[in-house]
Amino acid sequence: MARVYNFSAGPSVLPEPVLRRAADEMLDYKGSGQSVMEMSHRSKIYEEIITGAEALLRKLMGIPENYHVLFLQGGASTQFAMVPLNLMTEKKSADFINTGIWSKKAVAEAKRYGTARVVATSDDKNFSYIPDLAGVAFDPQAAYVHITTNNTIVGTRYRAFPDTGNVPLVADMSSNILSEVMDVRAFGIIYAGAQKNLAPAGLTLVIIRKDLVGEPQPATPTMLRYATHVESMSMYNTPPCYCIYIAKLVLEWLEAQGGVAAMQKINEEKAALLYNYLDGSKLFKAPVAEPHRSLMNVPFVLPTDELNADFIKKATAAGFVNLKGHRLVGGMRASIYNAMPTEGVVKLVEFMKKFETENC
Ligand code: PMP
Repeated sequence: MARVYNFSAGPSVLPEPVLRRAADEMLDYKGSGQSVMEMSHRSKIYEEIITGAEALLRKLMGIPENYHVLFLQGGASTQFAMVPLNLMTEKKSADFINTGIWSKKAVAEAKRYGTARVVATSDDKNFSYIPDLAGVAFDPQAAYVHITTNNTIVGTRYRAFPDTGNVPLVADMSSNILSEVMDVRAFGIIYAGAQKNLAPAGLTLVIIRKDLVGEPQPATPTMLRYATHVESMSMYNTPPCYCIYIAKLVLEWLEAQGGVAAMQKINEEKAALLYNYLDGSKLFKAPVAEPHRSLMNVPFVLPTDELNADFIKKATAAGFVNLKGHRLVGGMRASIYNAMPTEGVVKLVEFMKKFETENC
């Protein structure tokens, strides 16, 4: 069966060599006579997988020694609660930049545990830009400042991060982790649901500066305390073993591509192919302008809902799937994560050009 070009926002396309390797190792992982799905998470052979994944991630992202790497569950959505529960202790207030639905959800959850101040927002223009943070009065007493580095639904991303002084910057990096070079030292906590650039759904990655692992709010469940997972090295309970194994394969693949800097270059080229075409098109439009454009999620629209529906139908039939925009914004969205080959974007643009010719 031929594989399609999958532009899904998440879960998303995985590198084909990773899928092939997983298939080869499915019944017998390295002569153990077991699948990784079946083995004890406390076995020696599994320990090599989880420690190997962490070591590779540290190398690829340049994660310094004073940060813990945690492999958790519950998705990025659980982090919306876990961050305030663990960080809003002495200081019961945090600052948020509202750049879309995911930021809003982080705010709503934090409000259950303290004060969540929205200090900047782009809701006046449907979140089609990242607010200018130069003049923002961050609270120097805040427990943390929260941002969403890439806004999956509307297709915006930060090009530079706010300087929050001694207040830790917490980043939801779910949809652009490992897609471009980022200095981990700029952040107190980075978290990401893995189902876009790293692994299948079920794994949540947390990178946390060691000094931020403290005593959480008293009623915090054991599973929602960072300290629990730090002390047991992500093995307090059964971790998402198979997802971590796939993450390791994805990281090995990323390393073989030349690492994050090399991947960033490819991602910039891929995104430029689409944006350049959109900017020159008489039919398609990109609602997000530079310098706010995401490298990972490229939304675009046609002049009418009928044309949008017709495009999606024809694209799907031609093997370009999951291009429908998020239900809250409509239109189309091409998610072009690390694993989307350049060829997929080239062919999509060719298909769009053909559609334009037929409809102009
Ligand atoms: N934040 C961002 C930026 C996302 O894109 C998503 C999921 N698409 C989430 C949070 C929620 O992640 P999860 O489904 O892992 O809870």
